[in-house]
Order: sequence, then structure tokens, then C-alpha cells
Amino acid sequence: MKIKRQKHAKKNMGFYKYNFGFREPFQVLLDGTFCQAALRNKIQIREQLPGYLAGATQLCTTRCVLKELESLGKELYGAKLIAQRFQARHCSHFKDPVSGSACLLSMIEGGNPHHYFIATQDEALATKVKKKAGVPLLFIIQNTMVLDKPSAKSLASVQAMQKNQLIPEHQKLSIVQLKEEQGLVKASEAKKRKRKRTGGPNPLSCLKKKKKTQETPQPSAAKKKRNRKHKKQKLEAIAGTMQSGPQNVET
Ligand SMILES: [Zn+2]
Repeated sequence: MKIKRQKHAKKNMGFYKYNFGFREPFQVLLDGTFCQAALRNKIQIREQLPGYLAGATQLCTTRCVLKELESLGKELYGAKLIAQRFQARHCSHFKDPVSGSACLLSMIEGGNPHHYFIATQDEALATKVKKKAGVPLLFIIQNTMVLDKPSAKSLASVQAMQKNQLIPEHQKLSIVQLKEEQGLVKASEAKKRKRKRTGGPNPLSCLKKKKKTQETPQPSAAKKKRNRKHKKQKLEAIAGTMQSGPQNVET
């Protein structure tokens, strides 16, 4: 059972890494219901999840989830203590906190740009998460954490993307295209890098410098030769007058 579960997780993780650009550390957003289920089933999330997902994992939640757990009182006190140990991510409800499920849904808006996993036992939230492409879903069943298989929405979006591709085998291109479709920042960064490459070094200036260094010694060497010739001629002329001088005296 364990090996089968691990195999499924590996396959599903590959799907999200390859098609949606998921990278370590994996960002897992947990809600109160998941923490409560972990507590009941004696699951150590922090110790077990990295092994199951086969990679470094960042456990996080939101202020709205924590506020909701506080408001629910004694029954969820244990779950609140677990959730408080996670990193509290900023959400857009700073002044007016909303329900945990509404908050987590807001965190994956716009194509899940931060590559969040959603960990919840809330079925209503889970069905809403499944309607968005590229959001892995974690839940607890029979005392174990399970990474849900990719949703129909995720599969459809990958198929649509592959149809639009001119080169289907090109993995890098597919990721760039997907990021651009989902309006991520990284696509614009890639464009900036390309611009830098084209405008960077000036090959013409380099060539000119080389030519100059090659050309300059040649004329100088020629000049030296000329100078030598001039000096020789002058010396010969002087020698000539010296010779002719005494000759004139003799005659
Ligand atoms: Zn919130």
C-alpha cells in the first residue's frame, strides 16, 4: 500500500513540475480542517510531508485561517496550535478577515502564481480548488496524507496547451508559454534577459581594435626601414664628401 501510494505521489508531482513549473521548496497552504484531521490521526505533517512529496516543503497558512480557528474556540484549540507554527502568508484581507476557505481560494487566484498546494478536509473548498488548473490538492484519508490526482481541469489545460504548441517536445517552451498565458512575472523577465543579450557586446568595436593593433606595427616597421635607408644614404653622402674632399686637395 505504502509503495503504491508513493508511486502515485511521484507521478503526480512529476505532472505539476513538468507542466506547471512547481519547484522546491513546495509551498503548502494548510487550513484548520487539515490540521484538525492531522491531530486526530496523529500525523506529524512537518516530518511526513517532505518525504511523501519527495522534496523540501514550506508549510504555511494565512491570517484568516488563524483568526477563524481562534473564533471556533476550545474544540479547535489543538488545530490552532499546529497552524500557528506554520508561516503566516499575507493575504488581501488585512483589515477584514474572511473565512479560511475563501481566503485560501483567493491565494490561488490568477493561475496560482506562487505554486501553492492546498491542504484541506473541506470538501466544498476541494471542489472549488479542482475547478482551477494547476493547484495540487492534499487531504487526509485513512490515517495518511494523500496527494490527489490532477483534476480534470488541470489535465484539460495541459492538453489545450500542447495542442497550441508548434514544437510539442520542447519542454522549456511549454513552460514559458504557460507562464505567459497565466500572466506570470517570469515571462517578462525572460524577455528582458533576451533584450540584454542582443544589446550587450558590440562585435564591431572588438573587430576594429584587433585590426588596429595588427595594422600599426606594419607601417612603423616600414617607417623604420625607410629611416634606415635615409640614414644609410646620408652616411654615404657624408662619406662621399669626405672622400671627395681630400681627393680635391690632392689635385
Ligand atoms: Zn485572508
